[in-house]
Amino acid sequence: MLEPRDWTMKLVMKFGGVGVADGKSLKRAGGIVSKFRTDGHELVIVTSAMYNVTNSLLDAATRAGKGQREHVKRFVEDVRKRHVDSAQIAIDNEEVLDRVVRTIESKCDDLKNILLGIAHIGELTPRSKDLVIGYGERFSAPILQGVLEDLGIESQSLTGGEAGIVTDDHFGGAEPLMNVTTLEVRQVMDPLLEKGIVPVVSGFIASTQDGTHTTLGRGGSDFTASIIGAAIRADEVWVWKDVDGLMTANPKIAHDARMIDRISFSEAMELAHFGAQVIHPKALESAARFQLPFRVKSFGKLDGDGTLIVKEATVKDGDVVKAITNIDDVDLITVSGASMVGTPRLAARVLEILTDEDVDVLLISQSSSEENITLAIPKNDGSRAQNALELSLLGSKQVREVSIEAGLSIVAVVGAGMKGTPGVAARVFATMAAHNINIRAIAQGSSELNISFIIKKQDAAEAIKALHNDFKLGECA
Ligand code: ASP
Ligand code: MG
Repeated sequence: MLEPRDWTMKLVMKFGGVGVADGKSLKRAGGIVSKFRTDGHELVIVTSAMYNVTNSLLDAATRAGKGQREHVKRFVEDVRKRHVDSAQIAIDNEEVLDRVVRTIESKCDDLKNILLGIAHIGELTPRSKDLVIGYGERFSAPILQGVLEDLGIESQSLTGGEAGIVTDDHFGGAEPLMNVTTLEVRQVMDPLLEKGIVPVVSGFIASTQDGTHTTLGRGGSDFTASIIGAAIRADEVWVWKDVDGLMTANPKIAHDARMIDRISFSEAMELAHFGAQVIHPKALESAARFQLPFRVKSFGKLDGDGTLIVKEATVKDGDVVKAITNIDDVDLITVSGASMVGTPRLAARVLEILTDEDVDVLLISQSSSEENITLAIPKNDGSRAQNALELSLLGSKQVREVSIEAGLSIVAVVGAGMKGTPGVAARVFATMAAHNINIRAIAQGSSELNISFIIKKQDAAEAIKALHNDFKLGECA
């Protein structure tokens, strides 16, 4: 056991994606934990499932619901092999490896029984779906724990529920009950940390007060890191990513894109909304509420500072725009009708219909004549959304037509410095005019943190490059 010592910082570190892609990356993740622990930081680790495992669990659950037993059996064998192989690469010590492999085996048996049970009944309920798709994190945390033990770090793996995260029973996207959660997480974490043990927590999964398994929504392991960070009053949450940090634009498009050193939660949320989703918006929201700084760190470059996301935006002189981002492949739906004027309920109705269809509305704009409402939605939802709107609205006499246009992109210009600075929109649109790019729809968030507009998909790269240049985002501040 370690001697009690003065820790430098209390950190929650989250590994996901590249950090837990295979045995080699798991080993590297272990090395990162070891380095920062030796530097004197007090650590709690949160891990997501290994790359793509949650997707495949979701698929297996769906097939089980259709009674596909043979698929289920093959699937569980694949999952078993993938995790055992990774553990074998990541862990050298025989005894530790043995124990981890036995854990994987026994969890695979459970998973198989659950899936076969679902196949037997032939029905997948939201509750059993949450149980199944949480298995990725039930595998990855014990493996990462084994990697740490292999490196001589005393550690313990826990599910989100065991770590004290208590949620409501809104399956598929449960909300943590923060008061109980804060108390319970502290009660679990404090004694471990006092003994110098590094907790390795499964992200994404949690449980209700009566112990039913829940998940926090897809991509939710960032949220887990944020919940735990808030509860233990961590100094920072570090999220290890395959990028250096948040960038001024997609570097594949704007070659002189730079890493942003510091950005506010609200700016980061705008970026996340418009496609640059480096950190889950729910994680940012809760971190902002608890004033818990987030840092995006590069899994490849350990010594970089990464991007720090904090409460207050720093706006340097002339630094009105921080980043340009885009969402490719959106459809534009226009609901038009002569008698829409003065019928505020229609906009609400349109949004309600799309919410019921689970369609994510990315941007809304309404002409001041109120003759039409234009909405941008992801391409894959286009025809479903159009159908639903037509079915519900065409009979209503208020609406003449629901039209759809495909092959579009949203470009968003984001920065806290835009607030109260006149002329930003003029500059944006003058740049588009100079490049002969036609704008189909425009929206500005009332927060004035972003101006977003819709153009043809094939114009997006040129638009981003031009704006990145005109706002001088490639030049060092
Ligand atoms: N494994 C979960 C998902 O794929 C959670 C996460 O990765 O953050 O949605
Ligand atoms: Mg993620």
